[in-house]
Amino acid sequence: MINVIREPLIFEISSPGKTAFRLPPLDVPENPRALEGLPLREDIDGFPEVSETEVTRHFTRLSQMNYCVDFGFYPLGSCTMKYNPKINEKVASLGSLIDIHPLAPESLVQGNLELMKTLERLLCEITGMDAVTLQPAAGAHGELTGMMLIRAYHQAHGNPRKYVLIPDSAHGTNPSSAHICGYVVKEIKSNERGTISLEELEKEMTEEVAALMVTNPNTLGVFESDICRIADIVHAKGGFVYMDGANLNALAGITRPGDMKVDVLHLNLHKTFSTPHGGGGPGSGPVAVKKILEPYLPVPVIEEKDGRYYLNYNRPQSIGRVKSFYGHFQVMLKALAYILTLGPAGLREMTEIAVLNSNYIRKSLEGIYHLKYDAPTLHECVFSDKYQKEFGITNLDICKRLLDYGLHPPTMSFPLIVHGALMIEPTETESRRDLDLFIEAMKAIDREARENPELLRTAPHITYVRRLDEVQAARNPVLRWEKK
Ligand SMILES: *Cc1c(COP(=O)(O)O)cnc(C)c1O
Repeated sequence: MINVIREPLIFEISSPGKTAFRLPPLDVPENPRALEGLPLREDIDGFPEVSETEVTRHFTRLSQMNYCVDFGFYPLGSCTMKYNPKINEKVASLGSLIDIHPLAPESLVQGNLELMKTLERLLCEITGMDAVTLQPAAGAHGELTGMMLIRAYHQAHGNPRKYVLIPDSAHGTNPSSAHICGYVVKEIKSNERGTISLEELEKEMTEEVAALMVTNPNTLGVFESDICRIADIVHAKGGFVYMDGANLNALAGITRPGDMKVDVLHLNLHKTFSTPHGGGGPGSGPVAVKKILEPYLPVPVIEEKDGRYYLNYNRPQSIGRVKSFYGHFQVMLKALAYILTLGPAGLREMTEIAVLNSNYIRKSLEGIYHLKYDAPTLHECVFSDKYQKEFGITNLDICKRLLDYGLHPPTMSFPLIVHGALMIEPTETESRRDLDLFIEAMKAIDREARENPELLRTAPHITYVRRLDEVQAARNPVLRWEKK
């Protein structure tokens, strides 16, 4: 995030005849076939011709315009943008594990299958569930898979049912997944504590409802402490409880969704288990189920007999494949390395620190930023811009100004039930020092809102790109420096 000089497009610094390097003249006969098979392009008009220095500096400068979790604090709520140990990248890149054709015969990939099975077993233990599929490629993909399992069950019992209940505090992917699976979404209003209202649930829960999708802790960071009673209400009408477990660093090692009567949940290995989240993947969204839904899991299922692992495709009730091959193997390897390194006590500590860090921020900024729901929170906390609005300052201005302090802004305007939301998830990997930097910046911005609101309304001031017209930037992006 340094304020670098204006960087043109690489095409604009091109000049004919420049090359990155030059070799001495050939002193042996030229081999006409030497370049065969290399990805050489002769056919692009105006292909950039630049020196080695130019190409190196160009891409290094572009990389400096990025913000990343290796650079600093990244409090993007609901996203778990945490630092991930580099050693796990190394482990997941070992040639003996990854230089394997996905269609290699089972006898040659016993080790790989064993690692996947081990991860499945560990995830069962961590979640308190009975079986896991590792196939889904992301959280939302896991949600869709989970809903397909529920649909398959109901279908097999005569009626796929019509509705899925989703609280208004849910992550946005939940209603989309239920809808794509053919269900009509009914919203459940939160109560004044920001949790599911039991009365509202009782009213809506009928035998036409296939499932309740619940995020726990919800997007306010609040634990649904009535979860067992919620599950009883849903089960009494033959419905399933789907739990969105994307943010398991709020629970892991302390409590288990399986023990809360949850029937099916997805996890985000990217987020909780040592794969960075964001940047387009690859991710992994395993789905864990109770016995009742196991027959419907996607094929192939990894099974073990007499110490040999094999892929079972012969599962008549299966919903079929949800991903080519077996899912994102390297992400699984990183998760396995991470879980085995931390062990049960380490996972518990991960969760405790995630919760502690979030509460440290909540307590430090309480009274300075407005808290609509002042319930105890777990891994994230949601403030609003209500106090700063008195000076005409919105959450957008606050977020833009944070850029000037060299910090990534939190998630804003979500969840929708908090107007002007600032949703902060520090994660367990932040030090006290980094948390304090953020808290001090937020306090300074509040002072600026009172003393010099114009400074905030026009922020950011020291970044490479200044305040954008957000609509135009999305609809009509200008990718060149020259003003048209
Ligand atoms: C991140 C997240 C998702 C979606 O996961 P993707 O991998 O981005 O599809 C779903 N629910 C919650 C609560 C999340 O935080």
